[in-house]
Amino acid sequence: MADLIVTGSTRLVGVLGDPVAHSRSPAMHNAAFRALGLDWCYVPLHVAPAQIEAALRGLVALGFVGANVTIPHKEAAARLADELTPAAAAIGAVNTLTVLPGGRLRGDNTDAGGTLAALREAGVEVAGQCAVVLGAGGSARAVAYALAAGGAHVVLANRTPERAATLAAGLQPHVAGRLEAVALANAGALEAALARARLLVNATSVGLHPGPDLSPLPEGVGLHPGLAVLDLVYAPRQTRLLRQAADAGCKTVEGLRVLVHQGALSFALWTGRPAPLDVMWRAAVDGSAMPAGA
Ligand code: NAP
Repeated sequence: MADLIVTGSTRLVGVLGDPVAHSRSPAMHNAAFRALGLDWCYVPLHVAPAQIEAALRGLVALGFVGANVTIPHKEAAARLADELTPAAAAIGAVNTLTVLPGGRLRGDNTDAGGTLAALREAGVEVAGQCAVVLGAGGSARAVAYALAAGGAHVVLANRTPERAATLAAGLQPHVAGRLEAVALANAGALEAALARARLLVNATSVGLHPGPDLSPLPEGVGLHPGLAVLDLVYAPRQTRLLRQAADAGCKTVEGLRVLVHQGALSFALWTGRPAPLDVMWRAAVDGSAMPAGA
C-alpha cells in the first residue's frame, strides 16, 4: 500500500473531539483513501468545547471537505450547522459535517444509518419488530431514532427513567414506529419487553474498557435465543453482554461494525464513492487493542 503523502492539492477531512487522540477514524479513513488511490487526508483535531464554533468556521476557511464530530461536540455541531438532514434534526446531534459550495455547513448523523447498516449486514430485521434499547444518552438517541424510523417498536430502558421518557416523547413525532420508556431497574417491565423483542441494543457505557467486566443487564434478567444483541461498546470487542448473549444462543453484533459503517457512510458523503468496508474494518480491528474512541 502506498504511503500517505500530503501536498497542496490534498483534500482534507478530520474529526473534532475532546479527547481525540485515541480515535480510530483517522486510521480507518486514511487506509480507505490509500486503498482507492485518493489524494485525501483525515486528521484528528483536538478542539476544546469553548472553541467549537471557531473550529467549525475554521473548517470552511481552511478548505476542508468536511469533518466528523465526536464527544463532546455532537449537540453543539447540530446547533451550529447551517442546515441539518432530517435524521440529524430529529436526533439533535451531528457526527458528520460537509462543507457545501458557498461555505455552508450541512450536518448529518451517520451513527443512525451505521447502526441500521450493521444490523442489515448481520441479517437482523428491524421493520415491524420490537427492539429494546438500553440507555438514553447520545448514542441511544441515534439508535432509537434509527430503529423507530425503520418501523420498529422501541422500548427504551434507562437507569434514569425520566431521561428515557423525555427521549421517547421527543423522537415520537419524527418516526414511523412507536417508542416507550421503562426503568432499567423495573425487572418485570424489562423482561416483558425482552420477551416480545427480536433485538436488544446496549447504548449505555456499561462494559466499556478499562472498567470492570460488567453487563448492563440487571442481575437475573435473561435473554432468549430469538434475540439479536448489538453492543455499541466496542472496547473490548467481546463485552460481557455479548458473551451472555452468545451463551443464551442469541445472534451477536459487535459495536465495532457500527463504528465502521458510520465511517463508511461519512466517507461516501464526502467522496461520492462507496467506502472500501473491508479496508476500514481491518484498520478498526488493528486499533482494537487501543482505548475506545470514534
Ligand atoms: P452518554 O450520552 O454518556 O450516555 C450514557 C448512558 O449510559 C446513559 O443512558 C446512562 O444512564 C447509562 N449508564 C451509565 N452508567 C450506567 C450504569 N452504571 N448503569 C446503567 N446505566 C448506565 O454516552 P453515549 O455517547 O450515548 O455512549 C454510550 C456508549 O456507546 C459508549 O460506551 C460509547 O463508547 C458507545 N458508542 C459506540 C459507538 C459505535 O460506533 N459503536 C458510537 C457511539 C457511542 P443515565 O441516563 O441514568 O445516566
